[in-house]
Amino acid sequence: MLMKKMLFFLVMFFSIKTFSQSPATYSSADIYLQIKKMNVLGSVLYIAAHPDDENTRLLAYFSKDKLYRTGYLSLTRGDGGQNLLGDEQGVELGLIRTQELLAARRIDGAEQFFSRAYDFGFCKTPEEALEKWGHEKILSDVVWMIRKFQPDVIITRFPPDGRAGHGHHSASSILAHEAFIAAADSTKFPEQFKYGVKVWQAKRLLWNTYNFGSINTTGNDQFKMDIGGFNPLLGKGYGEIAAESRSQHKSQGFGVPAQRGESEEYFSLTAGDGMKNGLMDGVDTTWERVGDAKNIQAKINTILSQYNFEHPENSVNDLVALHKTIKQLPDGYWKNKKLDELKNIIVECAGIFAEAFSDQQYAVEGDSLHVNFFVNKRNDADVYLKQIQFPSFDSSLSDRLATNRDFSFSKIFPVAVDQPVSQPYWLVKPLQEGSFNVSDQMLIGKPQNDAAYEATFIFTVNSEEIAIKKPVQYKYTDPVKGEVYEPLCVVPAVTAHLNQAVYVLDGQPEKEINAEISAQKDLAVNVNFNATNNWKINNGKLNGNISAGSTENIKAFIIPSTNADESQLDLTVDKINDSKGLQYTAPLLDERKISYSHIPDIIYFKPAEAKLEKINVIVKGNSIGYIAGAGDKVPQALQQMGYDVKMLNEADINDEKLKQFNAVITGVRAYDVDPFLSSKYEVLMRYISNGGNLIVQYNRNQAINNSIKMAPYPFSVSGTRVTNENAEVHILLPNNSALNYPNKIGPKDFENWIQERSTYQATKLDSHYLAPLGMHDANEPESNGSLIIAPYGKGNFVYTGLVFFRELPEGVAGAYRLMANLIALPQNK
Ligand SMILES: [Zn+2]
Repeated sequence: MLMKKMLFFLVMFFSIKTFSQSPATYSSADIYLQIKKMNVLGSVLYIAAHPDDENTRLLAYFSKDKLYRTGYLSLTRGDGGQNLLGDEQGVELGLIRTQELLAARRIDGAEQFFSRAYDFGFCKTPEEALEKWGHEKILSDVVWMIRKFQPDVIITRFPPDGRAGHGHHSASSILAHEAFIAAADSTKFPEQFKYGVKVWQAKRLLWNTYNFGSINTTGNDQFKMDIGGFNPLLGKGYGEIAAESRSQHKSQGFGVPAQRGESEEYFSLTAGDGMKNGLMDGVDTTWERVGDAKNIQAKINTILSQYNFEHPENSVNDLVALHKTIKQLPDGYWKNKKLDELKNIIVECAGIFAEAFSDQQYAVEGDSLHVNFFVNKRNDADVYLKQIQFPSFDSSLSDRLATNRDFSFSKIFPVAVDQPVSQPYWLVKPLQEGSFNVSDQMLIGKPQNDAAYEATFIFTVNSEEIAIKKPVQYKYTDPVKGEVYEPLCVVPAVTAHLNQAVYVLDGQPEKEINAEISAQKDLAVNVNFNATNNWKINNGKLNGNISAGSTENIKAFIIPSTNADESQLDLTVDKINDSKGLQYTAPLLDERKISYSHIPDIIYFKPAEAKLEKINVIVKGNSIGYIAGAGDKVPQALQQMGYDVKMLNEADINDEKLKQFNAVITGVRAYDVDPFLSSKYEVLMRYISNGGNLIVQYNRNQAINNSIKMAPYPFSVSGTRVTNENAEVHILLPNNSALNYPNKIGPKDFENWIQERSTYQATKLDSHYLAPLGMHDANEPESNGSLIIAPYGKGNFVYTGLVFFRELPEGVAGAYRLMANLIALPQNK
């Protein structure tokens, strides 16, 4: 997340624009720009901590104006941020934000990379970030990326100190500096050399200083340049491209307006050689850097000068000749890079459209996959289709492609029983506290997995062989959206989904659990529940047939053991048989699908397991109304406690309806995202005054402090947060009902919290408020705004920045007991 000043308050309003992985199309102008880029051999790597930290305008400028190879290394995937779109948190949010970054990069033209660092949430110092991530581990990832990418110039977004605002930010700057030095040192991380990288010394390391209003780190002694130009080949300025790119961060509500006009960027030298005229001072960005290759420069200039915008195919002969010349150069980084670029340019100039697609979204293990291969050459270039390669299939062809004639065929392929499922590579192994575990060095840094299946089309263009790889995608036509492309995923034949991730037992002798077993094939299965620590499971077996596309529900009862408060539940399958007699055993996986219109469908797998927790919580009252906010899993937790939870929409918020509830709770950031709540102020205040308890979970400060009325008495929402999940909690009002009835709250209730204590705390409290809890992070003053309560009429108003939305879904006992007390706040006489 960037500085708070940059967080504009945004109404959630997205135009319905179908995400597409539709094949990119290239106009003559696009191709011309790519040919120009063939003459530029320079590269820039931008380094920061999160998706959305990057300076998209600068990336667009480097990539589309200077034509450098441009990369953004985001140390984390933004797992710990907030989610304005839905209830996904943690790794699921990281999956969404990974795709948002890739969507941004498709617009600004830069490449995307990540380290293994996990975004564990806000922290205040780089020391804490580096300790949780594993300093050496993440440093090795940054060094690895520098050695692979070989940037001439490295640029950080942040300084290494407190001015960076977030511990992850300053840590990203520290790591970039250390890696700048270590990448060039053959004694550092020498184990990487066996994977084909070599030491790399970048020319300089710069800090791209900024003026975010509240913090201005720019200065007149710094190098500055104007990047606000316009690119006539694209019909856009870099401020316009940047806005489109940045507006992809929809989960963060970072839509921004396009900017036109001059725009100065400032750079301060951190390490390496100084500069006078430009960022690339002292770097040869011409073909001379690969030896005696002046003739290549001249050839490209000739192609550019003769380029016919109406007939790009006229350049094919010269481009193929150029391909032959570059191939003869000694092997090296730029040779490979430029051959790749040139291959695509030849394909585009020759008007070749090639794709492989399926009408299935899923390739089911042990089943089959239907693939269509399609080629059309749309101009008169002389092209033969020589071969199509696909796993276990190699078609030799020798078809001269006729102009604008469709060439296609389809084939059915078996999917191996042990074909790896499409699990994002960083989630294959369990997450450590602060980092992902990835054992294959070659995967580190990659934004995502390669496609599950790829087809290679081999063409002969003027007797030169050109091979291009295409992912097999799922393609279908939606009556509203039109043609849609989504990733093709490998999935298991049978999956299981438990109705809760945490089952809480508060004194009951047993509790019902439900599992859905879904099959993608006709199968005979034998599914069992298992629990650790001598917890018992009654019933809950599926032993029989299940047909493709169907789901069976299994009901079971858990009985806690007398001597263990916790248990782990999982689902196993003894045998899976299909009609062909295939037999395999597998731990059952829970398939999760995340769908938003601005990014491709995301599919990943979790183990089909749940936490079982015995929590000693006394619950009073039984009926709760819940007004969903930006998305959280608090309602499910309330149901676990035995409450009857009704989700309330705008029309439900009236006097008649509300009076049935013991408490009304608003979901996280409800007042930020539900504009209708403004007009419900009077109804909600009457509800409290008549004896109800209104519990408002945290909201962001901007909206609340400016206009929206939420509470009976004034207070402000601050940006104060307590990020240490173990920060000591001080009981300031020991007799307050919230800490005593019906559950006696003590220090034990603040044990085992995750990620943080509180966020967006209340401040400037009116004298009617009671603040029973105090807490603070190290070296910060105590704050009492994490929980405030005001009696109003017969009922009570509560605002809380305590992160119930994180703790309840994790089964944190104290959070359950405290929430039960807030719901049970007694009526005033
Ligand atoms: Zn950030």
